[in-house]
Amino acid sequence: MSLTPEKLQEAFEKAGLLAYFPSDSLPALARFTNRMLEINESLNLTKWTKDEEVLTHHLLDSAYVLPLLKPLASPGQKWVDLGTGCGFPGAVLIAARPQVETTLLDSVAKKIKALEECLQNAGWPGRAKTLTGRAEEVGRNSLTRESWDGVMARAVADFRVILELGVPLLRTGGHLVDWITEDQLEIVDKSQRALKLLAGKIIKCEEYHLPGLHQRRYFVMVEKLGKTSSVYPRAVGKPSKNPL
Ligand code: SAH
Repeated sequence: MSLTPEKLQEAFEKAGLLAYFPSDSLPALARFTNRMLEINESLNLTKWTKDEEVLTHHLLDSAYVLPLLKPLASPGQKWVDLGTGCGFPGAVLIAARPQVETTLLDSVAKKIKALEECLQNAGWPGRAKTLTGRAEEVGRNSLTRESWDGVMARAVADFRVILELGVPLLRTGGHLVDWITEDQLEIVDKSQRALKLLAGKIIKCEEYHLPGLHQRRYFVMVEKLGKTSSVYPRAVGKPSKNPL
């Protein structure tokens, strides 16, 4: 079983997203995904393994953000996929926006090693970077702190935790986008304190739907208004143990 570029094309076309991909990008994205699924047989990366599931939950769910990123992720910008796991949503950004430098970040070294193999298989080694580390450490390291134009995070942590992990990675004026499900809207409502402490502002909360699923999903987009206090992020584990 393998995902062909034609299957990706059909799915993106049906969803009205095909125009966001350069014409030659789908074979590489299919190779990335198929390698990830092969590695998944021996290393737990994702629970979605059937073609239809992978198309819906990884490829489409990642690609629905592209219209929102269009005015933001411009050539030369640096974006990071925080808690990339099996490489999504980052891989879709790499395919769709080759001139954006995308970093796949995860705390689990084995996952990052697997993703390096997937990038190699896609033929993208020079286009994307990988980084092993906890976002708390990356955000406290002066070499990487406040050095990205954009942060994306899907299914990593509660929204307030994502704010503490993600906003310190951004330059002032940069953007963070978090994929959330309906049950997390309540937490977004409770994030005013975290936003204030981290100098972030929610500029968009956009609803979207995955085909065939009657669930509301949202992209929450945050803009960074000013430098983050050196207090944040707190030490490893503290953001999730005691969210702001
Ligand atoms: N974004 C992927 C994976 C979600 S699973 C997807 O949507 O399918 C969450 C991933 O985040 C795991 O791989 C985990 O190792 C990573 N992660 C959790 N906390 C992290 C942290 N503080 N820093 C870096 N990575 C983290």
